Amino acid sequence: MKRIVLTGYRGTGKTAIGTLLAEKLGVPFIDTDALIRARTGISISEIFRRDGEETFRALERQEIAGLPTENAVIGTGGGSVNDPANMEHLRRKSTCVLLKSDYATIERRLSHTPRPPLTDLPLKEEIRKMIDRRRRQYAASADFCVDTSRTSPEQAADRILNLLKNGSTAASEREAACRWFLTGKVPNAERGKIEELLTGPSRDVRTRILGIAGWPAAHSRSPHLFNRLFARYDLDYHYTWFEDSSIETILRVARDIDAKGLSVTIPFKQDVIVHLDKIDRAAEQIGAVNTVVFSCGIARGFNTDWIGIEKPLAGYKGKRAVLLGAGGVAAAAAYALIDLGMEVTILNRTFEKAQQLAERFGCTAKPLDAFDKIGPDLVVNATPLGMQPDMTSPLRADQLKKEMTVFDLVYTPPLTPLLRAAQKAGCTTIPGTDVFVYQAKDQFRLFFGIDVPDAAIREILA
Ligand code: NAP
Repeated sequence: MKRIVLTGYRGTGKTAIGTLLAEKLGVPFIDTDALIRARTGISISEIFRRDGEETFRALERQEIAGLPTENAVIGTGGGSVNDPANMEHLRRKSTCVLLKSDYATIERRLSHTPRPPLTDLPLKEEIRKMIDRRRRQYAASADFCVDTSRTSPEQAADRILNLLKNGSTAASEREAACRWFLTGKVPNAERGKIEELLTGPSRDVRTRILGIAGWPAAHSRSPHLFNRLFARYDLDYHYTWFEDSSIETILRVARDIDAKGLSVTIPFKQDVIVHLDKIDRAAEQIGAVNTVVFSCGIARGFNTDWIGIEKPLAGYKGKRAVLLGAGGVAAAAAYALIDLGMEVTILNRTFEKAQQLAERFGCTAKPLDAFDKIGPDLVVNATPLGMQPDMTSPLRADQLKKEMTVFDLVYTPPLTPLLRAAQKAGCTTIPGTDVFVYQAKDQFRLFFGIDVPDAAIREILA
């Protein structure tokens, strides 16, 4: 039997429900806290009090790495999801079920049990604070989600068994979604797979779907990348294309098939926002979402483009930067550059747009021809100039000085006319392909809580 892993905050019923579920399935229930108690001979509270949380987390990591990989129900500690190494072990060949309860129920259940405090706050506030802090990680740990606020452990265990047998979607909605995929632009090789996953007789309800939402989306390299990563981490997922001119339609289909999430590309990064339940702070400030995570019926929007832009620039804190362009990706770039404490000037063909973006981020705007007077340390190209088939550069060769670093966000082709000219001028260059690597890495972490090594992504994309 495939392993079932229960995640969730303290007091959501992991031990009571896990014990019953294991009994019903005729397999052992393994509680990672119990393994730690058995190994150390003292209570979890005592480990926290005597040796501190770090020692507890190290013990927890060891126990999770040594868990059996099948024929068991596993109950995890509430904070175990924070550690990507734990998530890599817990998610492998497993179905992860997130248990959630409302704050008042958790407080009532916890007020009777001795537990180590995680903060100096009163119990009620601690619960809110810790759940809030771990919200992303809990969402990333959920293949299925069960609300245990108003159910007995018996009812919750039965609900999980039902989900594992029948899944969480209605046949009529899956059939309609299947028709939508097959009449759309899904590549031929993908059609059989989609039919098998949604309506096939040997359909495994535990296999979940994610995909790229775009119009067009066919060019995206995400399906290739994500499906290879699923194989690498033994995740029962399939990544496909959600291509339609309407983001509302895509979101409806995604909800109908209980998709785990979506990568969002042109032209939906802005339009998708109003259809989501919660927006991450950075995505809200940038005004664009490129990642949607569905969990427990809630659709949350994130932006990982800015992380993809910031990561290669970690050594450029406080430098003087020029940002070329004032469109969607320029907003993510502006957010990243400001976050790094840079002095940013935005230059754009339409000056008013540069002014508007500069106002939003508290930096300077100038017309395109002001470039030579600025003498930047860093130039970031956020215009489409240089993208195939338009092979022009946003700057002339004589404008590039060897002291400059040139970062071209265009990545088709990987060596753009701007980067070629910058290399010739002796500049340090950063290709747009780096952004794709880092934004995808962060997106994978939002979906699954796992930290993929950069090299693994580069190898798949090579
Ligand atoms: P966008 O919202 O359409 O914005 C394009 C910007 O470029 C606007 O400021 C526009 O100026 C300017 N521009 C367009 N054509 C120009 C021209 N011929 N001369 C001078 N300026 C021009 O597009 P976007 O979504 O920000 O994407 C921009 C580029 O970023 C894309 O083409 C793509 O190659 C790249 N990108 C890379 C990644 C990555 O992962 N590396 C991710 C997303 C995007 P006006 O305001 O005057 O129209």
